Amino acid sequence: MTNRKKLSSLPQVNECLNSPEGRVWLEKYYRKTVTRSIREVIDSKRKEILGGADPDVSLDALAAQIEEKIKKHSEYKLRPLINASGVVIHTNLGRAVLSDRAIENVKAAAGSYSNLEYEISIGKRGKRYTHIKEIITELTGAEDAVVVNNNAAAVLICLDTFARGKEVIVSRGELVEIGGSFRIPSVMQASGAILREVGTTNKTHLSDYENALCGNTGLLLKVHQSNYKVIGFSEEVPISVLAALGREFKIPVVDDLGSGCLISLERFGIYGEPAVQEVIRQGADLVTFSGDKLLGGPQAGIIVGREKLIQKIQKNPMLRAMRIDKMTFAALEATFMQYLDEEKALQDIPALRMLTQPKDIIKKRANRIRNSLKKLISERAVLEIVPDQSRAGGGSLPETDFPTFAISVRPVNMSVNALEKKLRLGAPPVIARIQGDALLIDARTVLDREVKTLVKSVAAAFGENQ
Ligand SMILES: *Cc1c(COP(=O)(O)O)cnc(C)c1O
Repeated sequence: MTNRKKLSSLPQVNECLNSPEGRVWLEKYYRKTVTRSIREVIDSKRKEILGGADPDVSLDALAAQIEEKIKKHSEYKLRPLINASGVVIHTNLGRAVLSDRAIENVKAAAGSYSNLEYEISIGKRGKRYTHIKEIITELTGAEDAVVVNNNAAAVLICLDTFARGKEVIVSRGELVEIGGSFRIPSVMQASGAILREVGTTNKTHLSDYENALCGNTGLLLKVHQSNYKVIGFSEEVPISVLAALGREFKIPVVDDLGSGCLISLERFGIYGEPAVQEVIRQGADLVTFSGDKLLGGPQAGIIVGREKLIQKIQKNPMLRAMRIDKMTFAALEATFMQYLDEEKALQDIPALRMLTQPKDIIKKRANRIRNSLKKLISERAVLEIVPDQSRAGGGSLPETDFPTFAISVRPVNMSVNALEKKLRLGAPPVIARIQGDALLIDARTVLDREVKTLVKSVAAAFGENQ
């Protein structure tokens, strides 16, 4: 057949749409996705023909390719994956996994009207922040609370409310950068506050803060170092001492905790994350923390502290631009309520459960994964259980090792890089870590309900369809 003849034998888009297959596609998928996929396949065939090839262009021959494209274009771009990296609060992977209760409450709030800004008892307009205040103040011992989109916003609105055009005193040891774009000096600049850095990188004394105080001081800010640590010859001023200084000079003291833990984790050997209620007890006027780090909830920035100050933040017009939606409220309220029983919180909030999980439970899960894999790919890979270290992630606890067990997968007929890539591109994607010539699957961050899918994905990467 000549090129021209072959080209004219290509089916039209409408022809494909009206075929029996086309009608099935239109029922199952979105019309635009279907037409786009058909057009793409026809175009690629046209190119092949113009390039001198002689492809089968019957509808039957094209249908499978079209369907494959439709399926690909119908996938969500944001999708679940399996975190086998061992980093519990992985910012790139969406930070905390919500608890079942939080998920249920999100579903309820999302699919229905609610009293988000409505006072049911009096039948009038209400405030969205009142719902969450009671549980947060009960848990933290603070007088009042307000919630914004994330902790960066929480810090920003504190600076804007109390220190626009004024000086904010911060220790040089606390001028941190968190995850690339949150840098204390930049946030300060964006807020219109003036950064007054004091002390040195390793040591800051009370007298450094005292000497910097002036008529234009708006805030004393303490920032949790989060993702790094100054060790050796170092000293910082404890929040209790800073709070006393602030009280003396009537200047609010803000502690940006970052992670914001509500349970003391020291009994699990986890140090360096002060509990929010402890920082409030020591006299901080305002404390800010994230919803999706150690708290284990949705992305949010929580500000707790003195009622007068929180009320002032609530009057700041900027709050409107940072307000959180009903789904976040629903997730946050459910997550906070789980802390009314600490033991249950440690079990039921995934981030906490993963961080505090006893080694033998992680080992059991690792064994389960290894044994299932062994049945499927024992000829294609060397499988071993190896001790390893997980990380908290999310800028929390940078120095804390979390002893864990990983499944080491050493492929026989494939490079470890190829295996890593296949897993990453799988459905669902599996994110694991390369160490030497092995791929490490950390069992700590794999949820029990994901084990079967994980095993399937790994087998599929080796070409075993189970
Ligand atoms: C993580 C962190 C932030 C930013 O919090 P987001 O919720 O990610 O906006 C700010 N300050 C500190 C100390 C942090 O650790």
